Amino acid sequence: MIVNMAEGASEQEIEHVIDRIREAGFQAHVTRGETKTIVAAVGSNGRRHELEALKAAAGVEDVVTIATPFKLVNRQTKPHRTVVDVGGVRIGGGEFVVIAGPCSVESREQMLATAQAVKEAGAVMLRGGAYKPRTSPYDFQGLGLEALEILSAVRRETGMPVVTEVMSMEDIDLICEHADMLQVGARNMQNFALLRKLAVVNKPVLLKRGPSATVKEWLLAAEYLLAGGNSQVVLCERGIKTFETETRNTLDLAAVALARELSHLPVMADPSHGTGRRSLIAPLCRAAFALGADGVIIEVHPCPERALSDGAQSLDFKGFAETMQALYAPLPAIARALSASAQ
Ligand code: PEP
Ligand code: MN
Repeated sequence: MIVNMAEGASEQEIEHVIDRIREAGFQAHVTRGETKTIVAAVGSNGRRHELEALKAAAGVEDVVTIATPFKLVNRQTKPHRTVVDVGGVRIGGGEFVVIAGPCSVESREQMLATAQAVKEAGAVMLRGGAYKPRTSPYDFQGLGLEALEILSAVRRETGMPVVTEVMSMEDIDLICEHADMLQVGARNMQNFALLRKLAVVNKPVLLKRGPSATVKEWLLAAEYLLAGGNSQVVLCERGIKTFETETRNTLDLAAVALARELSHLPVMADPSHGTGRRSLIAPLCRAAFALGADGVIIEVHPCPERALSDGAQSLDFKGFAETMQALYAPLPAIARALSASAQ
């Protein structure tokens, strides 16, 4: 349940509500907006009727039941959209954020050349896997610590914040020393032990949707992070399993729009894993932009045919630059088409 405090409610009134929520056996999560404060009561063992009674407390506007199982992630719980700051890059603040880089960190030269090329073309953050979740144990598994050190060095050299995947609890501290944002990969979306650990880490998390997860399950995975204390969460749709075999996955753009409707968290799209085909990346970036996504994450490699992972879906530098140009090009075209049809 959430307690909406009235505009201008005093600190004392807010504190009183927090105390009463705790007395009733719930945790209290406070969100302070510019004019209004919302106090969410979460937990499964509390006495709900005691919360309902808070309707009569001073400074309380109303007490509302949140119908969804994800409480803190729900848009009702927070008056404004969450903006996640990753080393100065603001995700969810209205600008369309482009993160780019190779699937895997392979060498310092590969990473630096890619960082410089994607930055020049308009990307503001860098990606690159150090620990790779591979379907086959015989495939390249990532360079681990060596990759993290490369990411750190390239970040220092280019000024671009980096995101990299954390697969296992034991790597968290090390990855935190080198990265600005931690990715929870699709295969780990429901690794609840990992999510609980990441909830108490002071780093933003990019939470990918599991290939077979419903939107509700995805948002509940995010709820683990928020409930544990980490509200710096960005959701990322990366394609789901469907009957279609022409694409690697089916990028569920409706889920991007739905997640933004249901939640206050920023939502990005990953057309690289979402399609598995480099030719589809530009059109799906445009679609994600058009529907209001907060950004995209794209795989780029200096020489995709030599990539140690995900070459078929990686763009080369020229392809990435063209994708960035194509991202914004339709806007004047749409304006032209609309004004022509109005004549
Ligand atoms: C990746 O980003 O390279 C990756 C493995 O992503 P996902 O977890 O979405 O498959
Ligand atoms: Mn990949």
